Amino acid sequence: MPGLASLLDSRLPAETVEVLRTAGELAAEGEHGASEIYLVGGSVRDLVLGRDAKDPDIVVVGNGPRFARALAERIGGTAGSVSQFGTAVIDAPIGRVDVATARSERYSAPAALPDVTPSGMHDDLRRRDFSVNAMAASLLPDSWGSLLDPYKGFSDCARGRIRFLHDNSFQDDPTRILRTVRYEVRLGFKLEIETAEALDRDRSYLDRLSSARILAELRKMLAEDDRIEVFRRAEELGVLSAISPALRVPESSLKALEHFGRRSSGVDELLFVACMTSSLTEQEAESLIERLAPDGAWQAVIRGTSKFREIAPVLESPGLLPSEVVELVERIPVPVLEVQRVAGPKTHQRQHVEAYLRRHREVRVEVTGDDLAESGVPRGPVMGQLLQELKTARLNGRIRTREEELELVSRRLPMLLSREQIGDGEPTGAVSQ
Ligand code: ATP
Repeated sequence: MPGLASLLDSRLPAETVEVLRTAGELAAEGEHGASEIYLVGGSVRDLVLGRDAKDPDIVVVGNGPRFARALAERIGGTAGSVSQFGTAVIDAPIGRVDVATARSERYSAPAALPDVTPSGMHDDLRRRDFSVNAMAASLLPDSWGSLLDPYKGFSDCARGRIRFLHDNSFQDDPTRILRTVRYEVRLGFKLEIETAEALDRDRSYLDRLSSARILAELRKMLAEDDRIEVFRRAEELGVLSAISPALRVPESSLKALEHFGRRSSGVDELLFVACMTSSLTEQEAESLIERLAPDGAWQAVIRGTSKFREIAPVLESPGLLPSEVVELVERIPVPVLEVQRVAGPKTHQRQHVEAYLRRHREVRVEVTGDDLAESGVPRGPVMGQLLQELKTARLNGRIRTREEELELVSRRLPMLLSREQIGDGEPTGAVSQ
């Protein structure tokens, strides 16, 4: 069995190696709740594959939270919260370090969260998703880098295949079905034949997962560099429709996705949601929201396309004023409009959306409510009406400077005040053109 000592030393950043060595030495002292200690999971896989490893995941045989407190003290970090499965997070100068207690898992029912019991390292590796993620490298000074690989993950890395550890794996935890797709695409691996057959057989178990777990996995898929390929492959394997018939990536969505390319900030996540949901009917949008129970921003975007369809016929009019365009589209989430700009029909509506995103969206009135109050405008409906009229006049190019704004205010104020006095406070829109 190959040892990873030289890979640990050469492929990880020097500060990370120092933390891992310190952790190994601390465990060897034998007084901090750890009898064995390992680097596990994705970091070991990535080392074996010669890829950059991310935040290190450490597992100790013993008491993870206790060991994490001692390690945090030694490396100048803070041991934070402990998860329901006993993993402690250290906020360290090198970044995040996870310290877990080696554990075995038992699933009382398909897709249920597992019952966990502290265990030795073999059981801990057995509970993992795929052989390539089920390797561990010892961090004890005496056995630094020696590889524990009972499920032949090293060989699967070399052969480029994703293989589950047992036949019930996807039923126990159907999130693994979605994880498969991520690893396949990210690593450029293929599904091993029995794993592929089981995925095909067990796809429907995705239906049993809670909204929160599905959504968390979808977000991880969206965070992948090659998310377009991840969703294309997920569609191909039929795993998206197993989550909800409304979750699909038709060719038009893929085109829009490709246009926006590979980006990864939070705003872009919504852009991708808008792409993927751009062909949904109102009913489909509602059923997807019910299945995923996402936050308000996602909901607005998922509903956005059908809302856009309602206003689209009006947007077809060539002679709309900028203020009218703004009135129509300002409640549609920007990511939905961005997708329409790229993938919508090349007609007047697209020009209007383009103009809104490029110019009208930025238009601001210079005078503030305080400025108006100083010029004698009472706070309340009259002030609101004046600010709206200023915005409209700005948008339509009737005024361009602060002086022109103040001039408009002095012209309109007497009229609005007298209307208010006779109890006719309705907006007039008299200067909107
Ligand atoms: P990467 O996304 O690069 O694999 P990672 O390995 O840190 O990063 P995590 O999702 O943080 O990925 O999981 C850490 C490890 O925990 C995995 O490598 C895997 O061994 C195990 N694991 C995570 N999720 C599951 C799961 N649903 N079933 C079984 N094992 C899992």
